Amino acid sequence: MKQVLVLNCGSSSIKYELFEMDQGRALEAGLVERIGEAKSCLKQTSSGSGTNWPSRTTEVSVPDHRHGIDMIRRVLSENASFDGGRHLVGIGHRAVHGGETFSRPTLIDDQVLAAIRDLIPLAPLHNPANLVGMEVARAAFPHVPQVAVFDTAYHQTLPRYAYHYAVPQDWYDSYRVRRYGFHGTSHQYVAKQIARHLGRSADELNTIVLHLGNGCSASAIRGGVSVDTSMGLTPLEGLMMGTRCGDLDPAILVHMGKQAGMSLSQLDTALNKQSGLKGLCGVNDMREVMAMAAGGDGAANLAVEIFVYRIKKYIGAYHAVLGRLDAIAFTAGIGQHSPEIRARSCRELEAMGIAIDPARNTAATGSETSEIQTVDSRVKVLVVATDEELEIAQQTLTCVRDAQ
Ligand code: ADP
Repeated sequence: MKQVLVLNCGSSSIKYELFEMDQGRALEAGLVERIGEAKSCLKQTSSGSGTNWPSRTTEVSVPDHRHGIDMIRRVLSENASFDGGRHLVGIGHRAVHGGETFSRPTLIDDQVLAAIRDLIPLAPLHNPANLVGMEVARAAFPHVPQVAVFDTAYHQTLPRYAYHYAVPQDWYDSYRVRRYGFHGTSHQYVAKQIARHLGRSADELNTIVLHLGNGCSASAIRGGVSVDTSMGLTPLEGLMMGTRCGDLDPAILVHMGKQAGMSLSQLDTALNKQSGLKGLCGVNDMREVMAMAAGGDGAANLAVEIFVYRIKKYIGAYHAVLGRLDAIAFTAGIGQHSPEIRARSCRELEAMGIAIDPARNTAATGSETSEIQTVDSRVKVLVVATDEELEIAQQTLTCVRDAQ
């Protein structure tokens, strides 16, 4: 039996998931939260199936990431199948920003850590936390190969005209300003699932993937290769999100700086944390926003209208980018679970060959891949359950094997 542990280290949390790789089955998952705060907590879910696992929350003391990873190791040791880590063939780390340096999963060594450190200016919040996780996990599991799987890597295939911004060339040359794109692991996983479901090879399919969670992004995938994506230098660009604004006239920043006296860091906070659904109606959780809209709240209703309108614009744009479109996939929390958002995003697109069947749309639960287009729809419309952790585990295993 081969096992892979996936770690996702944030600044104050560590998510973990242990996989048995013969069948790609999760054995154990959990989250250490509020690291470094007075009351940290450990949430555990153990073997079962998917999101319905029984879960347990314990208050614990976790002063730093080293203690967090030690705790995860102890928790895993309680699972008989872990067997002291005897079957662990690799640890996969979610890494947020790989810049132009990393276009594939990479075995972690001192040089790789230095390169990820060099990319900190591009992801000042995420890369330092990812690095701490990698360093601590290397010390805790010194004999297990560790692999970095980058959120940006899948989009490194964008053509220059798609990733270049029309700004002074020196911004790219000296400051690495370009579109990188994020959620790459999810887009890649979903593109593969679409191909598997349709019984086709990924390299013969043109697809649009709509990842709609707290963060939202769209990608245009030609023959399995990402050719455009909506997030940019940072995850702020593109679709409207829970708390992020998405596409924006950049002169708004200058205007608000001059007129409202906002500083750069105030603007940064406003656009990342106080915009999107939250900025418009005070709430960032789509379920609540939709309930408010259904109850007659005008602000919530407008928020949902903008949300679906922007998705529709990206469908149109990426259809044009791809020329021939075979499939559109909805994924992540909102994409998998909201028939209404799916229906409204694709409304009146029949002329483009896209039509959703209301009964199939309502019946799609989001837990497995399903088709929701009408019989006449030229383009397939699918609901796909994304699994970034499983994709990281599989890429980790492949990377470890290739290195042997
Ligand atoms: P993250 O990006 O943090 O991984 P998820 O992919 O879990 O987030 O997506 C979270 C979003 O999905 C939230 O806005 C939540 O309200 C939304 N969501 C979950 N279930 C539903 C549902 N049934 N209808 C509408 N939105 C939903």
